[in-house]
Amino acid sequence: MTKAKMFLGSEEKSTQNIIEVKNPFNSNVVSSYPICSEGDARLALLKAKTASVETKKSPLHQRISWLEDVANKLESNKEKFAKIICDEVGKPMIFARGEVNRCIETIRLSAHTMINIGGESFDTTAMPSGKKTLAFFKRVPVGVALAITPFNFPLNLVAHKIAPALVSGNAVVLKPSSAAPFCAYALAKLFIQSPYSIHDALSVVYSGEGVNDALVASEIPRVISFTGSVPVGKIIIKKVGIKKVALELGGNAATFIDKSANLKEAAKKCAVGAFVNSGQVCISLQRIYVHVEVYDEFAELLALETKKLVVGNPYDDKTFIGPMIDEDAIDKAKIWIANAKREGAKVLEGGNNRGLILEPTIMVDVKEDMNIVCQEVFAPIVSLIAKESYEEAKKSMNDSEFGLQYSIFTSDLSMATSAIDELDAGGVVINDIPTLRFDIQPYGGFKQSGIGKEGPRFAIEEDYTQVKSVVICS
Ligand code: NAP
Repeated sequence: MTKAKMFLGSEEKSTQNIIEVKNPFNSNVVSSYPICSEGDARLALLKAKTASVETKKSPLHQRISWLEDVANKLESNKEKFAKIICDEVGKPMIFARGEVNRCIETIRLSAHTMINIGGESFDTTAMPSGKKTLAFFKRVPVGVALAITPFNFPLNLVAHKIAPALVSGNAVVLKPSSAAPFCAYALAKLFIQSPYSIHDALSVVYSGEGVNDALVASEIPRVISFTGSVPVGKIIIKKVGIKKVALELGGNAATFIDKSANLKEAAKKCAVGAFVNSGQVCISLQRIYVHVEVYDEFAELLALETKKLVVGNPYDDKTFIGPMIDEDAIDKAKIWIANAKREGAKVLEGGNNRGLILEPTIMVDVKEDMNIVCQEVFAPIVSLIAKESYEEAKKSMNDSEFGLQYSIFTSDLSMATSAIDELDAGGVVINDIPTLRFDIQPYGGFKQSGIGKEGPRFAIEEDYTQVKSVVICS
């Protein structure tokens, strides 16, 4: 069993009281974290505040070398980190390895991006009331950033916050998911033990009574970057006070399969988009609207592709679908399937579970107000719904409280350009699944799916730096 410890600044601390984390597939105890106190949270914030004076003054080349050093160390320990992810959250090894690779890229991207983040000059003679000056703006770090992360990408989503925040000259307090404490600890340790590290610039605290409130309501962080569910996002937004806040929240991703699409290709991609990571992805494909003329053919192709997916032991290299995170998650999925069936929906494929593993499940004959269709299901369940036209599908997609990513499969260019303009979401993908995300892209939702964008450049500009205006008069 691996033991995560707190980092109160650069100092490691443990406590007698620990919580054990079990692997969701075999229930083996794999790691533990120390239960933190309100005092630990406050101390981490105070240390970050003091350290932020140094992070702000530090030369950019040091911060870039810092991130490059961490990325290189991660590169030499890829398999170890993939195993930690699989141990804690049960993500199949093939995808855990993919997450480690993405994490390395996220850290490198953050380092390189910072070189091009700057200000620009402006002309103060543009208005009759103006006068000749030398005027420009520059970007300065906000000071202290608070990062709160979820379980489903326990490494890369930590990197998406701490790498841009540190490279732009901030100190960071991280509160990772209780389901994956060792992922966060192991990555933080690489940062803290790097020869380029800035003393006390990164702290890690875990769950405990009063911790969340002490962190969120404190005036020390000047930005809170939160990734997680809508309900927790709503709690946080009520408590933040005057500071920047980025909320990367849940979604209910959808696609439209037009009759002009390559159905075979679309079915193959949709099986991945709906079932990867057991549907525990914020842009997991949950609703597939299909043109009525190709509905039957597409349903058959999707069922065929779904049957090919290997379900089972996440440590096995062939496994595509492993366990869900915990009992609550699988219970919710099973109840929502049962409720939908009671109201007339049918299971085309899957629907059964073995322990925490739910088979990839395709639902048909659903109604759009069923929970499995209109709420975030966060499970390997997708619904197929026939539509007469793109217009009808668009109406259904936009008639949602969420708006993270949507997609459309079509060979009709004018339909594609309409979708880009008309779909009400933070991201629109043409001819691929809405589950497609590149770490360089501006990523974040509209409506209840959140506020702000992640992706190194956008996080640095929107969250971790603020604009300072400078006017020099002669
Ligand atoms: P969650 O339950 O909302 O938890 C997220 C984080 O918030 C965890 O670290 C959690 O700590 C912490 N937290 C819980 N209550 C809190 C409070 N009152 N104040 C401050 N922090 C609090 O989410 P999850 O189950 O880990 O992750 C799944 C959700 O994240 C889904 O809704 C998914 O769509 C969303 N997500 C969104 C994106 C995106 O980029 N838009 C990406 C990934 C996931 P504990 O673990 O200790 O409870």
